[in-house]
Amino acid sequence: MTDFEPGHFEPASLTVRLGAIAQNYRFFQRLAGAAATAAVVKADGYGLGLKMIAPALGGAGADTFFVARLSEGIALRPLLPQARIYVLDGAPPDAVPSLIAHRLTPVLSSLSQIAAWSAAGGKHDAAIHIDTGMNRLGLPPDELATLAAEWKTRLGGINLVLLMSHLACADDLGPDAAMNRRQLERFRSSLAMLPPTRASLAASSGIHLGKDYHFDMVRPGIGLYGAGPKGHKNPMKNVAILTGRVLQVRRIDKGDSVGYAATFHAKRPTMIATVALGYADGMLRAASNRGMAAINGARVPVVGRISMDLITLDVTDLKTLPQPGDEAELMGDTVTLADVAEAAGTNEYEILTRLSSRVPRRYTDAAQ
Ligand SMILES: *Cc1c(COP(=O)(O)O)cnc(C)c1O
Repeated sequence: MTDFEPGHFEPASLTVRLGAIAQNYRFFQRLAGAAATAAVVKADGYGLGLKMIAPALGGAGADTFFVARLSEGIALRPLLPQARIYVLDGAPPDAVPSLIAHRLTPVLSSLSQIAAWSAAGGKHDAAIHIDTGMNRLGLPPDELATLAAEWKTRLGGINLVLLMSHLACADDLGPDAAMNRRQLERFRSSLAMLPPTRASLAASSGIHLGKDYHFDMVRPGIGLYGAGPKGHKNPMKNVAILTGRVLQVRRIDKGDSVGYAATFHAKRPTMIATVALGYADGMLRAASNRGMAAINGARVPVVGRISMDLITLDVTDLKTLPQPGDEAELMGDTVTLADVAEAAGTNEYEILTRLSSRVPRRYTDAAQ
């Protein structure tokens, strides 16, 4: 057993490659062809830090952004004074004054929001979200029919700049799958019912479905941060690299257990490295006894329960044993974001947005 003298380094860190985000943005621009490419930066830039990510995307050429909450739009405005910022939550009446004050463009999801936005006067810009089958946000079919019949009066008080909808199954199903086709057809017929307006349907996975789904603007989020389409080789650059320092290395005997509730029992004499990352840092506990890490590029399994501050790795098979102070990569170029999501039984979105503020972030302009 070796002990570790605390040094001046950080026990854990999250490196965010701004250069990779910029390259991923340009990759979507190329795929989108003539369609404009907006950037989705909700939830603090998918957990990676809006303050650094938004200017990097602006530098890569993005001039249109989507956030979910009003508060996120307010935080984004001073970072990008000239950008178009859409707020997906829309315009509940009590949000209207702030939306206007910060020059935010709400994505209206109901006739009552359209009315509230009109009532503010000034004919401010707005988008309208049409529900084409996800049944989550957006004008349902009966409200769309009413709007189509009465748009001259109902839209008279707003400047409609975008009609949008959202796909439920772009992640899991291909471009010809019934659910995707149905939403595509419904979106097209909805557009035909309203005055000609720019249109947007595709998020990251919708862009990968091809040209039919691109319309005038695409709205990638997760792909900018490194996730690829399911079931294909990932064409995106890795963005988030999570590392923790080894605190201690110990040898245990055959039959010894590791961690809370003794869920791992050694089947042979085993070397265990304990690393300074736990669920309080965003390592999901569900990956206990399932996840992987990498030390100097070699994969090693997580053994035992992930605890609040620590994770334990079986490093027996490494050619060179790690020493206290060495880095283990829990997410990055060897153990990918997709691997981490799979081991925790969740998706890439939840992994990124659960990374906690305890882990210091470092930003680099590098792309890899
Ligand atoms: C989150 C979101 C996006 C971005 O989705 P990704 O799958 O992250 O690319 C686009 N549009 C809407 C309406 C969203 O809620």
